Amino acid sequence: MTKTRVSYFYHPEVGHFYYGPSHPMKPHRLKLAHHLILGYGIYKEMDCYRPHPATMGEMTEFHSEEYLQFLSKCSPDNLRQYHSQMQRFNAGEYTDCPVFDGVLEFSSLSTGASLDGAVQLAQGQCDVAVNWSGGLHHAKKSEASGFCYVNDIVLAILELLKVYARVLYIDIDVHHGDGVEEAFYCTDRVMTFSLHKYGDFFPGTGHSSETGAKEGTGFSVNAPLQSGMCDRTYNDLFQPVFDKIMEVYQPGAIVLQCGADSIAGDRLGPFNLTLKGHAACVKYVKKYGVPTLVLGGGGYTIRNVARLWCYETAVLVEKEIPNEIPFNDYYEYYAPDFELHLKLEDKENQNSKESLEAIKIELLQQLQNLQGAPSVQMQQVPPPFRVIKNTTNDSDDDNDDDNDGDDQRHKSKTRHGDGDRKPHEAELYDQVD
Ligand SMILES: [Zn+2]
Repeated sequence: MTKTRVSYFYHPEVGHFYYGPSHPMKPHRLKLAHHLILGYGIYKEMDCYRPHPATMGEMTEFHSEEYLQFLSKCSPDNLRQYHSQMQRFNAGEYTDCPVFDGVLEFSSLSTGASLDGAVQLAQGQCDVAVNWSGGLHHAKKSEASGFCYVNDIVLAILELLKVYARVLYIDIDVHHGDGVEEAFYCTDRVMTFSLHKYGDFFPGTGHSSETGAKEGTGFSVNAPLQSGMCDRTYNDLFQPVFDKIMEVYQPGAIVLQCGADSIAGDRLGPFNLTLKGHAACVKYVKKYGVPTLVLGGGGYTIRNVARLWCYETAVLVEKEIPNEIPFNDYYEYYAPDFELHLKLEDKENQNSKESLEAIKIELLQQLQNLQGAPSVQMQQVPPPFRVIKNTTNDSDDDNDDDNDGDDQRHKSKTRHGDGDRKPHEAELYDQVD
C-alpha cells in the first residue's frame, strides 16, 4: 500500500487572536499544536501549506451577507452602535461569542484553510488534508454560536459536493455538531454522524431521534452520551456504526471534526478519552482510504489540545513518536512531566453497558433502514450541477461576485469555473429571518 499523502494547512497568524481574558477558547492552542508538530519533526512527512484567507464571496456560499457585513464592521470599539444586530446575530458581551478584535479575519483564516484542504482533496492532490484551526461546527447561517462565527465545515463540504456525490461528516467533539447537521438536515448528499454529551449540555440538540427531514430523513446520525465515556466504550460504539455507514452510504469524501474537548481533563468537556482512544477514531476512518478532511474543533485545556492534535497528525502520517515531549517554543506548557500521553484519573463512566448497547442498536437500525430506500441511489452519481459553468453567463452569482471586489480566488481558474453554483434545493435550509 502506498503511503498516505497528507497536506497540512497552517496560517501563522491564526494563533494570535484573543477572545478575551476569561474566555475558554484560546486560539493560542493552535500555535502550541503547530510547534509540537514541528518539534517532533512530523512536518517532514507532509506537504505544508500556508492557506489563503477565505473571501467574503466564499463565506457567503453559506452565510448571509448581512451577518458577514456585521462581523466585518463591528469591533470592541464600536459595539454600542451595533446593539440590535448583536442580539440578532448572537454576538457580543452577553453571549459566548464575544466581538473581539479581528473576529472576521480569524474566521476567514480558519475557513480558508478548510477550503484549501477541500480543494486539494477534490483535485486529488492529497489523500488527507489537515486544518487544526477549522472544525467550528456551531456557527449558523446568520448567527454566531458556541465560540464559532463562520462555519468552515459547511463551506468545505459545499466545496467537496462539487465533485463528490456523497460526503460523510463525522464529529467526535464532546458537543453536538449542530451547525453542520442543521445546514444539511434536508439532504441525502451529506450524512452527519455526531457522538456527544447530551442532556443539560450545550447546544442541547443531538438526540438519536433527530435523524433528518425531507430527502435527508435518516441521514443525520446522533449518539447522545453521558459523562465519563472511556476509550473502550467510545470505540465500541464508534466503530460498528461507522462501519455500517461506510457499507450503506459509501461516501466519496469524509470530513472528520476532531474536537479535543472529548479527551480527559478538558476544561469544559466531561468525557474521559485518552489521546490514543480519540485517535483510534482517526486511525479507523483513515483505514478506509477515502479522501478525508481532518479538522480541529473544541478543546479548552490547551496543552492537551496540542498533545492530541500533534499525536493525531503523527497517526495520519503513520509516524511513531516518543512519549517524551521534544524541546520546542512552548516546552514549559508540558510541565511537570513533559510527556505526550495523558495520565487518566479515575472517573466514573455514567453510560451503562445497556444504554450504550441500545444506542448502538438504534443507530444500526436507522442505517439499515436506509438500505434500499428509493432516495438513496448509491451507485448513481448526481449530475455535477455545481461545477458546470452557465453558458448564458448572466447569473446572479456573477453579479454578486463583481460586487464583492475582493473575491479573486472565487473567479480564478483553479476554482473550476463555479460561477453557476446553485444550491440543491434541499441542501441548505431557508433563510430564517
Ligand atoms: Zn466542543
